[in-house]
Amino acid sequence: MQTIQRAIIRNNWTKEEIEAIYNKPLLELIYEAATVHRQYHKPDEVQVSTLLSIKTGGCPEDCSYCGQAARYHTDIKVQKLLPTEMVVAHAQKAKENGSSRFCMAAAWREVRDNRDFDRVIEMVEQINDLGLEVCCTLGMLTEDQAKRLQEAGLYAYNHNLDTSEEFYDEIISTRSFNNRLNTLQNVRKAGITLCSGGIIGLGETDRDRVSLLLTLANMETHPESVPINALARVKGTPMENMPKVDIWDMVRMIATARITMPKSMVRLSAGRIEMTEVEQAWCFMAGANSIFAGENKTLLVTPNPELSLDMQMFNRLGIKPMQNSKQETETVF
Ligand code: SF4
Repeated sequence: MQTIQRAIIRNNWTKEEIEAIYNKPLLELIYEAATVHRQYHKPDEVQVSTLLSIKTGGCPEDCSYCGQAARYHTDIKVQKLLPTEMVVAHAQKAKENGSSRFCMAAAWREVRDNRDFDRVIEMVEQINDLGLEVCCTLGMLTEDQAKRLQEAGLYAYNHNLDTSEEFYDEIISTRSFNNRLNTLQNVRKAGITLCSGGIIGLGETDRDRVSLLLTLANMETHPESVPINALARVKGTPMENMPKVDIWDMVRMIATARITMPKSMVRLSAGRIEMTEVEQAWCFMAGANSIFAGENKTLLVTPNPELSLDMQMFNRLGIKPMQNSKQETETVF
């Protein structure tokens, strides 16, 4: 039987190496990913992550998968930036429910140095004072803005690459792949941890998926968190009629992310609502160790499984929510 050495952390992968991993016979790939997973993580622990949309819809960007883009005719209700007290109350509730991290999302193209940003800074400070780790996803950031967030106590910043550099223009025309990389760099320079991954099911090829993983896995420091999303088809967006993502494609992506970025949290993100429990179990086996869960069954603006159902699934699979200080439970509203 093949012996798998303890995986070393590398950032000099070649496209051919990652392609060879991605294209392995499926069961061999899952076995290798599960082995690497056990070298760096407890296989019976999964982080339960929380997300609150603090400003919804009306976004000027044209991301073809997103129901929050103002130019598409979707059923999403536009919501201005929520009052600080309301957001802090949500965070307090999350803490009471056992959360130690709280993530806020605003549908902005980029952060502007205006009153709204000042209010987000207040939110970060006040939620940090509650003893929660704070995460934000606010669009593009300058170095100074990232520094302000860090000084306010921000722990993590989410900014997904979405897809490969080669395929990027097919999905989004209002910004470039390099814009994304610049923001990620600004976040790193400010000393904030990174959450960055992508989406499959956008019409990309296997080579695009490999290319996306290559960019992430060759960062000087791997993102601490790597969300792998299956397209959630939103009515009214250009992607509404795309075929459902094949579960084995998700498993391949997750396993390849796990093998190439052994220490990162690999998050099984959007698309779980269309997966059976058995399919999700395969994703955990392939190295996913984080999910989004929600009380009101939404993940920003798309459906997500109910928290109690997730907890039942965890019980059946022998999984417990991760609780430690760096990789702990969050709650979604
Ligand atoms: S994904 Fe983000 S940036 Fe793109 S349209 Fe949606 S809210 Fe705007």
